[in-house]
Amino acid sequence: MADIYAPEFTNEAAAIAHLEKSRWEVSGANCPHCGSFAVRKMEGTTQAGYWLCNDCRDKFTCRTGTVMERSHIPVHKWLLAIHLMASSKKGMSAHQLHRMLGVTYKSAWFLAHRIREAMIDTKAGPLGGEGKSVQADETYIGNSSKRAKGYKKGHSHKEQIVALVEPGGKAKAVHVKKATKQSVREILVTNASRKSELHTDESKLYTVVGKEFAAHKTVNHGWNGRGEYVGKDGQTTNAAENFFGVFKRGMVGTYHKCDAQHLQRYVTEFEFRFNRRTALGVNDKMRADDLLKGIEGKRLTYRRPN
Ligand SMILES: [Zn+2]
Repeated sequence: MADIYAPEFTNEAAAIAHLEKSRWEVSGANCPHCGSFAVRKMEGTTQAGYWLCNDCRDKFTCRTGTVMERSHIPVHKWLLAIHLMASSKKGMSAHQLHRMLGVTYKSAWFLAHRIREAMIDTKAGPLGGEGKSVQADETYIGNSSKRAKGYKKGHSHKEQIVALVEPGGKAKAVHVKKATKQSVREILVTNASRKSELHTDESKLYTVVGKEFAAHKTVNHGWNGRGEYVGKDGQTTNAAENFFGVFKRGMVGTYHKCDAQHLQRYVTEFEFRFNRRTALGVNDKMRADDLLKGIEGKRLTYRRPN
């Protein structure tokens, strides 16, 4: 883990320089309003951090056009929050951020959700492909504690998550109110190459869409004695179950029934880290740098992804 006392996490000028570099080092500084490169830094202490566009004559800062726009939280606190959320395997609750950053709980809550927006992978290609397999599985999420407010027995009140995972590769996870043949098909054909082999359990959700894939192999709920379910060709859904395992352990105590409208954001957060996990050669710094690249152009997307 990088040093949380690094200058960009403690000093505002260093943080602004870090963010400007992340956004503009490759392309060169440009105006978020009109796209012009005819821009210059404004002089004087009252204009510190401001840029002026010679074409549209509008001012901007390194926050303009990002999830940080219109936030009063200093850039160095944003960068620290991004670093913490990128590197903590189970995620960071708004309460933890509130205490660590010294901002109000409400500010921390908005900050965390905006960082989750930045985690949305807008350039993700389809999972799998020729000669590869994709595992699909679904799980329930909801309050299972009988002491929890609003506890109800059974699955009807719970939300579902469908996960597609390429073994040894990336995942795509989507929150649905209820997994149906139609919703599962939509998720599969949008996010996985139909040239892949599809590996699932014997759920009827997959039987029809399975025919669209190069092959569809199922795992029955038998027991091979090693605590795994393995089909006769060696197919499993272990990678998908592993994704759910990390997600559920991270969500214990942080997710409540009333958060259903935000569940996709949490799912996206775990998917982001899973797709950049250490086993894929990604370290904490690379993951945080990648997350910082994702802040671009998402400031108004308060809708739910997908
Ligand atoms: Zn401009």
